[in-house]
Amino acid sequence: MNNLLLNDFHASSDYIGSEKKWIFLIFKGSVILRNNYLNDDWLALDYSSAALFSEVCETKLCIGQYKGIDCEVWGLVGSKLDLKSFILVELRELLVTLNEIVFTMISRSVQLITWHESNKFCGRCGGKNSMSKNEHCFVCKKCDLSFYPKISPCIIVAIINGDECLLARQSSWPAGRYSALAGFIESGETAEQAVNREVMEEVGIKITNLTYFGSQSWPFPGQLMLGYIAETTDKNLRVNELEIAEAKWFKFDEMPIGIPPSSIMSGRLIERAVLTIRNNAI
Ligand SMILES: [Zn+2]
Repeated sequence: MNNLLLNDFHASSDYIGSEKKWIFLIFKGSVILRNNYLNDDWLALDYSSAALFSEVCETKLCIGQYKGIDCEVWGLVGSKLDLKSFILVELRELLVTLNEIVFTMISRSVQLITWHESNKFCGRCGGKNSMSKNEHCFVCKKCDLSFYPKISPCIIVAIINGDECLLARQSSWPAGRYSALAGFIESGETAEQAVNREVMEEVGIKITNLTYFGSQSWPFPGQLMLGYIAETTDKNLRVNELEIAEAKWFKFDEMPIGIPPSSIMSGRLIERAVLTIRNNAI
């Protein structure tokens, strides 16, 4: 299947009743794919393939439509699964190998099934929740509280100073791996406040000219990453070692090998920062 475009997928909780249906299978937070999935661009299963797992399917949810065809996720249960000619693949493994549209659909599938499995009872009164008929929402039968799928917004920022870009390494990452600074948005904060605060907390510098770049769903487990580019005239980093292991200025034509690939937003953000420096230099 060629020309997979992000705009061809419409996220929705409602079926349109198309004749055909695409199905994703999720088991314990991972996705079930054909053994040879790396040879294919399109990874959704048709009904006859998915039906091999219908006996262990506990939940079916609409995730939306792809080019006018209903797409559904099945949540599978059991202690062990007979995978037949399929394999179980962790979402993180797919991040750099899949095209963006298929990753988006699988990521939405995993998040909805995880939400569905974790919200069967009310967090306030302990009553039993039931699914709303109109949307992906659990409602408590006793106290009427609603539970929507949880999304946690976070920011990531590439900072430019002259012909250099600031990159950092988290302590859990191997040596040589770098990315832009990132962190969660606190309750009550705007995204822009969060960028300024995170940069000050992690490397102790002030930034200016904050520009929005783009966003990406980051399903580990339910984050929404908002990307920014910023500038600074302050080169003196005061690295908070409780937050990050290392932060360094890299000249735009000497960027390290271990930066994220352009298939994910953080990689494209760093590419844009490098391009901005190049253009400024002309
Ligand atoms: Zn309740």
